[in-house]
Amino acid sequence: MSSLPVVAIVGRPNVGKSTLLNRLCGGRQAIVADEAGVTRDRLYREAEWTGYRFWVVDTGGVLFNEDTKYLPQIREQVELALAEAQVAILVVDGRDGTTAADQEIASWLRGRKLKVLIVVNKLEEPSTALGLAAEFWNLGLGEPYAISAMHGSGTGDILDAIVADFHPQTEFEEEQHPCIALVGRPNVGKSSLLNRLVGKKRSIVAAEAGTTRDAIDTLVNWEGKTYKFVDTAGIRRRARVDYGVESFGVVRSFQAMRRSDVVVLMLDATEGLSEQEMRLAGKVREEGRACILAVNKWDLVEKNEHTLLSYTEKLREDLYYLEWAPIIFISALTGQRVSKLYPLVDEAVTQHRRRVTTAVLNEVLKEATLRHSPPASRQGRQGRIYYGTQVSTRPPTFCLFVNDPKLFKDNYRKYIEEQFRGALGFSGTPLRLLWRGKTEREIERQGRQRVRVAVTAKS
Ligand code: GDP
Ligand code: GDP
Repeated sequence: MSSLPVVAIVGRPNVGKSTLLNRLCGGRQAIVADEAGVTRDRLYREAEWTGYRFWVVDTGGVLFNEDTKYLPQIREQVELALAEAQVAILVVDGRDGTTAADQEIASWLRGRKLKVLIVVNKLEEPSTALGLAAEFWNLGLGEPYAISAMHGSGTGDILDAIVADFHPQTEFEEEQHPCIALVGRPNVGKSSLLNRLVGKKRSIVAAEAGTTRDAIDTLVNWEGKTYKFVDTAGIRRRARVDYGVESFGVVRSFQAMRRSDVVVLMLDATEGLSEQEMRLAGKVREEGRACILAVNKWDLVEKNEHTLLSYTEKLREDLYYLEWAPIIFISALTGQRVSKLYPLVDEAVTQHRRRVTTAVLNEVLKEATLRHSPPASRQGRQGRIYYGTQVSTRPPTFCLFVNDPKLFKDNYRKYIEEQFRGALGFSGTPLRLLWRGKTEREIERQGRQRVRVAVTAKS
């Protein structure tokens, strides 16, 4: 359930913290963090080293001012950053030697349960570097690392030291928290909803490495869990993130969807579906993303006892291919039911990542084929399903081995999917069914136990 480890860079001003940050994050764009409810911004960037990924946060150069007195609010910021950090990097200037401010920061760091690396910067000259760095042993933080953030020398050693104690990360672990794309046409209420969802809770906005240029994500904590809202740059206009000329258009939404687990597709209760929304909905299906349909501005709808049902029916009809997506009626303006989105996201993501055992799957297949045997060709050739197995998740993808895929037309395929859903759930996620032709001999050669679920011949 943990997100990526955090590495905090601390030190007095002008020692080269932001230069080092740029080095560690490989020149990826600096993103100013949008910190809800606090005064000073923090800078979060993503870095990667030998397969380990982590956040690097620059705590700012103003922790200690020139006469080594701290500004309380800023100190609070640094405290916040350090509280979630696994590693702190104390940067000092090798040409200045140890200063009183360095001493003070070091003693302040020493009492913490946190790995501290002392990094001596601005040592471009190899012949003097080690000697100058050695002076900083007196900070009592272990062996100083001599580097030049500007030239990049020595930074590999720091990176090695940073990741030395990290747990091995699997792709699954690092993607633990649900990634949500909030999409919809302009004025549907995306930024209103995002502001509601983020609320007063702490959030950070950070660059995502190696993906869309300048994509900005917002992390939100809700009831102890972290949710990532993908590419919110265009959404949080009110945060005044400087974001360039590109507008948050359909293409941008598509990119966000590709990086998400679940798409919250916002619709306007006061207006019919637009072409743009149809395109977004189509893309959800194409990309195999989990989806929640959020009908916004529900406060503006005049209601009677039929309103909800008739609206739902109409929507189901229009978006029949997202029939598995839950529908929620909300008001981003009043906040009505907005908090119910989180449990829906949880459920959709769980289902999207769910795995079903082959045994269970074939039980369901057996029942389904007994109730409705597979079709036969006009020549009387009977369709047979040998067995099925789940081959992947996100979305759950099943491979069905059959004697001849051509015998299985859309209506029977649809029937099998319905049976899967009826027996196994999978609310909120699309399913993919792959129909693969195999001869009986191939099945036997593979050593698969032949389930032979389709037995009844057409009379
Ligand atoms: P910060 O205030 O700690 O974030 O420091 P900066 O990264 O803004 O750097 C302060 C100054 O030191 C800038 O003029 C940098 O160009 C310079 N600087 C940073 N790293 C190095 C380095 O490795 N060698 C030298 N010679 N100058 C550096
Ligand atoms: P975006 O372009 O999708 O980000 O939409 P905004 O969040 O900027 O909202 C567009 C307009 O719709 C604003 O004037 C909002 O105040 C308004 N709005 C958003 N959500 C609701 C809602 O649930 N009810 C009502 N009545 N107005 C809303």
